[in-house]
Amino acid sequence: MPAIVKQFPCLSDNYGLLIHDTDTGATAAIDAPDGAPVLAALSEMGWTLTDILVTHRHFDHVQGIPALLAAFPKARVVAPAKEADKIGVRADLEVCEHDVVRVGALGARVIETPGHTIGHIVYWFESEDILFAGDTLFSIGCGRVNETPMDVMWASLQKIAALPQDTQIYCGHEYTQANARFALTIDPNNDLLKQRAIEVADLRANNHPTLPTTLELELAINPFLRADDDAIRQTLGLKTADAADVFGEIRLRKNRA
Ligand SMILES: [Zn+2]
Repeated sequence: MPAIVKQFPCLSDNYGLLIHDTDTGATAAIDAPDGAPVLAALSEMGWTLTDILVTHRHFDHVQGIPALLAAFPKARVVAPAKEADKIGVRADLEVCEHDVVRVGALGARVIETPGHTIGHIVYWFESEDILFAGDTLFSIGCGRVNETPMDVMWASLQKIAALPQDTQIYCGHEYTQANARFALTIDPNNDLLKQRAIEVADLRANNHPTLPTTLELELAINPFLRADDDAIRQTLGLKTADAADVFGEIRLRKNRA
C-alpha cells in the first residue's frame, strides 16, 4: 500500500489526520482542528504538507489552516464548493460530487454528504479503501443534522453505506463510547454491538483510539445506518415507517440523550 495514514488527537475530542503517498512524498491533512498538533505530526513523520482537504466549514475543522499555510505556504487548500467561502482562508480548489482530488499519485473521490452542514463532503480514496468521513459518520453514530431535513442526511449516509464493506473509515471525532451507550438503548439485543461496546470501553480506559472503523462493522452495529433493521423498528414502535423517518427518530432521540 503506497498510502500511510497518521491519526492523532486534537482539541478535546477531534482527530487530526494525515495521508501520505510513499511514492511521491505528497501528504494531505484532512481538516485542521488545530495547527500545532498537525505540525508536530508532520515533523514526527518527516513529511512535507502538500494539500489540505476540508470536509466542512466548522471552526474545529478549519481553525488550524492558517498555521499550516504559514509553515507550508505552497500547500493547496481543497474545500467543498458549497461552503468554500466560509472556511476563513482562500480555497485553491473547490470541489463537488464525483470530482477526484489528487494527493501525489493517490486519488480521492469527492462524495457530497449534506446534513451536518449543507456543503459537507467526504473523501474516498478508492484504491486504498480509505474514507475520511469528517462529521457525517462516526463509529456507532453520525453527525448532528444541523442544516437539512432528516431524509437528506439519511440519503447522505446511504451513499457511504454503498461503498465496499472493507472500507476503512476515519472520522472527525472520538465519540464512540457515548455513541455505543446510546445505540444499546435502541438495539439492545445486538450481540456484535454489545461486544464492541465492551471493547470500546476498554480502549478508551487505556486512552486508545477506537478509530478507524470499517464499513462492515458499522453496517452491523451503527443504528444510524440500520434504520431498516426490524429489531430497531420494533423497539422504536415504527414497524412500517419509511427508513428515513426511522433514522430521523433515532437522531432526535440521540439529540435528547
Ligand atoms: Zn462539524
